[in-house]
Amino acid sequence: MSAVSVRDVTVAFEAFRVFDGLSLDIEEGEFIVLLGPSGCGKSTLLNAIAGLLDVASGQIWIGGKNVTWEEPKDRGIAMVFQSYALYPRMSVRENMSFGLRMAKTPKPEIERRVNQAAELLQITHLLDRRPDQLSGGQRQRVAIGRALVRDAAVFLFDEPLSNLDAKLRNELRVEIKRLHARLGKTTMVYVTHDQIEAMTLADRIVVLKEQKVQQIGSPDEIYRRPANLFVAGFVGSPQ
Ligand code: ADP
Ligand code: MG
Repeated sequence: MSAVSVRDVTVAFEAFRVFDGLSLDIEEGEFIVLLGPSGCGKSTLLNAIAGLLDVASGQIWIGGKNVTWEEPKDRGIAMVFQSYALYPRMSVRENMSFGLRMAKTPKPEIERRVNQAAELLQITHLLDRRPDQLSGGQRQRVAIGRALVRDAAVFLFDEPLSNLDAKLRNELRVEIKRLHARLGKTTMVYVTHDQIEAMTLADRIVVLKEQKVQQIGSPDEIYRRPANLFVAGFVGSPQ
């Protein structure tokens, strides 16, 4: 059983059709990277999986269940965006527990999950601070922590590091990879336009151009045997 199955999906923005019947199966525990230049449809695909936009046709399955018409909150996913969107007046702890409080999760359970996520991300010492007392990298860790406490089987990341400087980006990339290893069976779907990020993080890369899949394969396959000139150029020339 696939963790995520995108079946013959088309998304329409009025007359503009994106992905004329895209299919993609993601295995449990896999780290999949959606890679391609701006406008190629990475966010659209991720948002369709998340349920943040409707599909015009086709189906989305998550964890063996057809979730095509389920609300995002009922899909068993957690999402991390490029902008941190933390609540400015809440402490880190409150930011991380907000979603769980809304879902009426029992208090001790909230505490356990927040403490565990904070430890994994090494932000325990920041739990009582407010977002404006944090650096960019620390804020992004909190944003990841907020997703982590949801205990989801599938994590969706939309360019989570692209607002950070190169050094922090490298650091957090390593951190995310380690997190994935420590979480075991958690499936990650990660959007980026950065080839290096894709190469270092992915079990498999989906290369997109103009809302079409160009190639799906391991970093090694894509690097050694690019399916076409676009893939060769895009993957072979670091920015
Ligand atoms: P990426 O995330 O790879 O930069 P997107 O998924 O955001 O690309 O966009 C894919 C294509 O769909 C682009 O051509 C974009 O202009 C178009 N698009 C995205 N969102 C909308 C929207 N809400 N309305 C109309 N067109 C959109
Ligand atoms: Mg995008």
